[in-house]
Amino acid sequence: MDSVDRASNSPVVVAIDGPSGSGKSTVSRAVAARLGLSFLDTGAMYRAMTWWMLANGVDVEDAEAVAVACGKPVIVSGTDAAGPTITVDGQDVSGPIRGPEVTGKVSAVAAVPAVRARLVELQRGCASHAERGIVAEGRDMGSVVFPNATVKVFLTASERARAERRAAELRAKGVDEATITAMAADLARRDAADSSRRTAPLTQAADAVLVDTSELTLDQVIDTITALVEQKAGLTAA
Ligand code: C5P
Repeated sequence: MDSVDRASNSPVVVAIDGPSGSGKSTVSRAVAARLGLSFLDTGAMYRAMTWWMLANGVDVEDAEAVAVACGKPVIVSGTDAAGPTITVDGQDVSGPIRGPEVTGKVSAVAAVPAVRARLVELQRGCASHAERGIVAEGRDMGSVVFPNATVKVFLTASERARAERRAAELRAKGVDEATITAMAADLARRDAADSSRRTAPLTQAADAVLVDTSELTLDQVIDTITALVEQKAGLTAA
């Protein structure tokens, strides 16, 4: 297997963007594992920043206060596709960053330009240290962070398909129906905020391939994107 883009001789970067619930994380991680690439969940970094702000009493609705504080936490992403990790000041925050408090506030923190500048730098650092190349997923991978990515994918699904998938995941975890309804509303609100913010809004890069996953199974999406990367980057699955 060769993970070097032969055309440019630079490491492979696969940029995957899309709204919440499009299946980005699961798909990106699986594609990375299949191709022997690193994996970066950039949403986890924005969540980790938000977790730190809440834990340290910063008013996350005060953009100025967030901008002033955002240089303080040390956020480290482990990019092994077999077991990605995220720590803040050495503490594993992979559990708490998925909770409702962080989920409800992350879009406000992610809209602050100073936060984005800091995390974009970390994201590019992760890519430059990835031995064989990286699959990076988020909202602005193809449009801002990695404009020269080897492959850009915009993953989408109808709002209904996304809400149904999320509800099925939550039901499987034993979450009650009222919470599921509240989380669906939160998801719609977060998508609207992420798409309308001034800095690096969720958008499909002009050269990104659109993959609509509404009618596809998870395996079909993983196969489609793996094939795309193999074709564009000259990679073959392990
Ligand atoms: O992907 P996930 O749902 O974990 O992302 C959480 C939030 O982080 C998003 O709703 C968005 O506000 C922010 N985010 C972002 N840019 C990225 C990744 C995530 O603004 N590249």
